[in-house]
Amino acid sequence: MMKSFTGKTVFDGVAVGKILFYGKKEEVVKREKVEDTDAEISRLEEAVKDSTDQLGMLYEKALKEVGEANAAIFEIHQMMLQDEDFLDAIRNMIRTQNVNAEYATASTGDHFSQMFASMEDEYMRARAADVKDISERLIRVLARVEEKEIEGEEQVIIIAEDLAPSETVQLDKSKVLAFVTRLGSSNSHTAILARTMNIPALIGVEIDPEWDGKMGAVDGAKATLYLEPDESTLEMIAQKKRRQDEYKKMLLELKGKETVAPDGRKINLYANIGNIGDAGSALYNDAEGIGLFRSEFLYLEKDHYPTEEEQFQAYKAVAETMAGKKVIIRTLDIGADKQVDYFEMEKEENPAMGYRAIRICLDRTHIFKTQLRALFRASAYGNISIMYPMIISVQEVQQIKQIVDEVTLELSQQGIAFKKVEQGIMIETPAAAMISDLLAKEVDFFSIGTNDLTQYTLAIDRQNPKLDAIYDPHHEAVLRLIELVVQNGHKEGIWVGICGELAADTALTERFLEMGIDELSVSPTFILGVRKAVRECNRQQADNK
Ligand code: PEP
Ligand code: MG
Repeated sequence: MMKSFTGKTVFDGVAVGKILFYGKKEEVVKREKVEDTDAEISRLEEAVKDSTDQLGMLYEKALKEVGEANAAIFEIHQMMLQDEDFLDAIRNMIRTQNVNAEYATASTGDHFSQMFASMEDEYMRARAADVKDISERLIRVLARVEEKEIEGEEQVIIIAEDLAPSETVQLDKSKVLAFVTRLGSSNSHTAILARTMNIPALIGVEIDPEWDGKMGAVDGAKATLYLEPDESTLEMIAQKKRRQDEYKKMLLELKGKETVAPDGRKINLYANIGNIGDAGSALYNDAEGIGLFRSEFLYLEKDHYPTEEEQFQAYKAVAETMAGKKVIIRTLDIGADKQVDYFEMEKEENPAMGYRAIRICLDRTHIFKTQLRALFRASAYGNISIMYPMIISVQEVQQIKQIVDEVTLELSQQGIAFKKVEQGIMIETPAAAMISDLLAKEVDFFSIGTNDLTQYTLAIDRQNPKLDAIYDPHHEAVLRLIELVVQNGHKEGIWVGICGELAADTALTERFLEMGIDELSVSPTFILGVRKAVRECNRQQADNK
């Protein structure tokens, strides 16, 4: 019997396929008594062998997909699995306490991970999580629990309680048909990722892990997930898909055309991206440049600080891929909903208003300098601009300039090539908007981050699903701030763009043009739709009158 469950759409589209429940991978381990301890130990040895093979395969896969530096962790895990102290402790427990291998592994894993966690050395402390990881893998193999990875070639609809940005980026995009979660808000970074990845996504759906393996269909327009859809629903979805494909085809005809309004006003239409793969999608959709490269995704994909070299390679790859088109890279915007363990940040009462973005960079300057060195080095290979997030004062900008001067002086002394780089700031706090006249004297451009600007102006947490209905970026307060920023920027002769999600809202395209916005930067999937809106701007006006 078909059932339907409704939530809220964060990215429209339709999908039909098997459901995969993406859950946390912890197993509840029971203590059981075993008589034949030798047999139990053989079972353990078998599981160690199988786990080692699994890790070998994961290493190969990661090597191809994310490079050697990221793949190395699986090699380390393989080595840890061979550690005789660890294995002896498990064997000993099976033998002396007559317990099952799962239980002995879980207890030993806990002990070892506690031991690592209490060590002085930071590197060794970080191994605690690895011990936990390999114990859990061993237990899964022993208990024959299948890993919830997206296996095989089949594409799936992912259902989950919630997805963190760090989890979302690690999923193999080519295998995901849709995301359906119970938690999450439409302004969260996971929602933004779904849009960039061009994957239909619903939130607020009362999902059930039991649906795993069943057939599902997602209809974004109705914000509905159908469980075991019947024939007529499948036909309805197929029809919608055909219509959407036609619309997409119509938009593709705008590729190669200018983003110019009938009155001749031209807009720079750029793309928001999070990695090199998205740059491909930006080009496919005919982006005229990259208006926001959220560099923090490089940090979220890793379990260690990305090195200068790793960052340099990533920035260089994007700059080269865009072949001379402008690429605006935003410096690290970690904190709030974007957390990584290795930053070891303290828990905060109000993370969105807390220690994040430029505040971290101006405090932990070594992290900032590493990123700036990588950015300036990459500038030699394309048309890179740098932009700084979460600015609230002129003083911050001056501090940044001083650090940039130190970095560029160092590079010159070392004889390392770099180009002159345009530097701008994000206007995403009401403070920055209000003093944009002063800030405009300090920088080369403004890019308005309406996601945070709305959150801080309206005092509405963009992450809170309960407040989704009143999180209103069309609020007159937000629109007036945008207008003020454009005016102040233009008075000082700098260009002003929008890179928040509002930039893609075609109901406002005309208003943005009237305000004199110079640039709009949107998820790659929205580029051609916005181009259409700009090109038809006056016509829309005429129709409305
Ligand atoms: C914004 O705040 O509008 C923005 C573009 O930055 P992010 O969504 O990454 O916070
Ligand atoms: Mg922001």
